[in-house]
Amino acid sequence: MRFAVSATLDAIEGRLTLDPALARGVVDLAEVVRLVDLDSDEAKPASLRRLGHVIDALGAHLAEDGVAVYPVVDRSVLSDLDLTSNERMVVRRWADDRLVEVLDEPGDRVLELAELLGVPVVSRQTFPQWSERYPWLPGGLLAPGPTGVSARGEPHPGRAGSRVMTRVWRCPEPGCATFADASGAQPPPRLVTGAPTCPRHRQRLADAGPRPQTRVRAVRIDGTVRRRVVVRPETPLLVGRAPESGLSLSPWLGEEAMRWISRSHLRLELHGDALWVVDSSTKGTTVRTRGGPVRLGSGQAYELADDDVVALYEGVELARPAVLPGGAVAPSSVMAEAPTIAIRRPH
Ligand SMILES: [Zn+2]
Repeated sequence: MRFAVSATLDAIEGRLTLDPALARGVVDLAEVVRLVDLDSDEAKPASLRRLGHVIDALGAHLAEDGVAVYPVVDRSVLSDLDLTSNERMVVRRWADDRLVEVLDEPGDRVLELAELLGVPVVSRQTFPQWSERYPWLPGGLLAPGPTGVSARGEPHPGRAGSRVMTRVWRCPEPGCATFADASGAQPPPRLVTGAPTCPRHRQRLADAGPRPQTRVRAVRIDGTVRRRVVVRPETPLLVGRAPESGLSLSPWLGEEAMRWISRSHLRLELHGDALWVVDSSTKGTTVRTRGGPVRLGSGQAYELADDDVVALYEGVELARPAVLPGGAVAPSSVMAEAPTIAIRRPH
């Protein structure tokens, strides 16, 4: 049982992110751990595994595998005695690794994040006290239940492209790990009377220039989107059967595809505005373009247009998420290692 619990927590850990390009929903961990009807373990007032159920439910709702959430955590959760000492240790590690955002007063942070990231809040709350500041409420909320999430209204419009999200921010606090580098993976600042502020140190942030461009691509295998990847400037991203770094496709490949696809099959490179695919395989890569298919042999590079689809093998595709909608296949569960109840897609 102990092994099953830690394997589940490891799997959950792989679905946590503060990266604006990858987060598909915002959750309040203090709320989620106490949703007792989400699992069969109702005797436990708080359980970290309930986060896995919420992630599964969001994935089923989005019809996509491997979705990541942005967790906000009230500092009190780190010492919540209703969690086991192991669970508290895990949350503290997540905080240290910057996989969760720890706040003294979360307030409306989940709503602010959802708006800035353009993603839903997965919560059973309806936030009436914030309805003036967020007129889209209760739209944009997905209420998690034992059989999946249900939408409370239309998705909110989001504020993608707002100045807060197109700049890099720097915190004056020495040693601030979050707002220090020039990475595009920086989480959104907190807005205090409109001014970008460090959520941790509560200091006004300085504008450190434009945020580097990134490109998000979805990987769809046999009709199911398995992962999203972010391509960053001047940082090649390797994709293949089992590349040294980057995205390994082997967990989802059938026998034929395993034989066809090279260990490191291709790489994506972002130079300025231009996204390139560079083949490094033995059997080649096909790019499906508006003008017809383009075959790439080993070492050949091709600048991708917005709607191009890169195929490593039949049914193994990589493209902009909007070009590769999720399929009918049910996403695999983050809870697969532990006893679980079925999470069905709501209709
Ligand atoms: Zn700071």
